Amino acid sequence: MKQFDYVRPATVKEAIAAAAQPGAAYLAAGTNLLDLMKGNVSRPDRLVDVTHLDGLDRIDRLGDGSLRIGTLVSNADLAHDVEFAKAYPAVAEALLSGASAQLRNAATVGGNLLQRTRCAYFYDTASRCNKREPGSGCDARDGENRTHAVLGWSESCIAMHPSDFCVPLVALDAIVEVEGRGGRREIPFDELHRLPGNTPERETVLEPGDLIVAVRLPAAARGFAAHARYLKVRERTSYAFAIVSAAAALRIENGKIADARLALGGVAAKPWRARPAEEVLKGVSPTADAFQEAAWRALTDAKPSGNNAYKIELARRIVARALTLAAAGTPARIPALPASPFASSGAIHA
Ligand SMILES: Cc1cc2nc3c(=O)[nH]c(=O)nc-3n(C[C@H](O)[C@H](O)[C@H](O)COP(=O)(O)OP(=O)(O)OC[C@H]3O[C@@H](n4cnc5c(N)ncnc54)[C@H](O)[C@@H]3O)c2cc1C
Ligand code: SF4
Repeated sequence: MKQFDYVRPATVKEAIAAAAQPGAAYLAAGTNLLDLMKGNVSRPDRLVDVTHLDGLDRIDRLGDGSLRIGTLVSNADLAHDVEFAKAYPAVAEALLSGASAQLRNAATVGGNLLQRTRCAYFYDTASRCNKREPGSGCDARDGENRTHAVLGWSESCIAMHPSDFCVPLVALDAIVEVEGRGGRREIPFDELHRLPGNTPERETVLEPGDLIVAVRLPAAARGFAAHARYLKVRERTSYAFAIVSAAAALRIENGKIADARLALGGVAAKPWRARPAEEVLKGVSPTADAFQEAAWRALTDAKPSGNNAYKIELARRIVARALTLAAAGTPARIPALPASPFASSGAIHA
């Protein structure tokens, strides 16, 4: 592994100053970053450890009804917070479907948002990869690409974003709070991650030194708690990344869908909000036909980036099924296998 400096700032201000230097990277739990460093894929000159900064590990209910989740809250602590899981069940289900119990105990909110793609060529330094080495080419294009993107990809990069957590967050209009050299600002979740275009190495709109300090779920997101699910298809039933996933949330009033939220995971370089599909659902009855129509709309622009046309049909089916499960009602307990299409429709929450 390349040698690097390690700094442990005492304040957010010091952290930003240290991380704004070229070659610096923030270190949270390190479950992704340290793997990448050991493989020589990421080669920072300086790690800025933020894990001991005060006040970033809190979950706060704000006066306007929104929920503010500090960046250092672990994925497990968040998912097991009973009030959180009741208010945002699809987010809890997505968190519990990710990685393993050990990883969720360590992994942080900010780290999950900014985890890198799992494209095998990105991890293999002998391969050409425009994301790792801009301008070098993309070996995934003619290589093993059955799990790659079907939406928003470019000739430069066909990788997809692997996070589960991000999928319901984008559906529920979460806000990302960032502190940077210019002070504090807020980024709508859908604008955090970038599509690859000609610059796949630029994955987010964050600037050098920008520190994610919190994620906020707006009060309106609670309105979907009665009808919200996350569904994930993976190659193993647990401890595996999504091939395709969907977060579906409905507000049903007098037998009609008053509002709908839908997002897909595993299909693009960013968590994919399916707004045209949401429009199809608003004001109609929650029927199988309406869900099929929404599923078609969600994938209208999809095209294979390689040997992965199957993902388009799979995504349609997962969307229709996630909507059907959401319409049936959020179970009282999270299933033993969260987000699994093989789980009995059983019960959510402790
Ligand atoms: C075997 C394995 C299986 C996994 N399976 C899944 C899965 O099924 N689903 C899933 O969603 N995830 C999965 N993951 C990924 C896991 O969720 C991430 O590794 C984890 O969330 C990263 O969090 P971290 O705190 O360890 O981040 P780190 O590794 O410390 O950091 C990740 C990146 O975020 C940056 N960063 C961290 N915090 C901040 C901040 N506050 N502000 C700005 N930048 C920051 C770092 O500089 C780095 O670039 C898996 C990981 C492993 C190793
Ligand atoms: S798909 Fe993207 S991450 Fe994978 S090899 Fe191509 S450029 Fe690299």
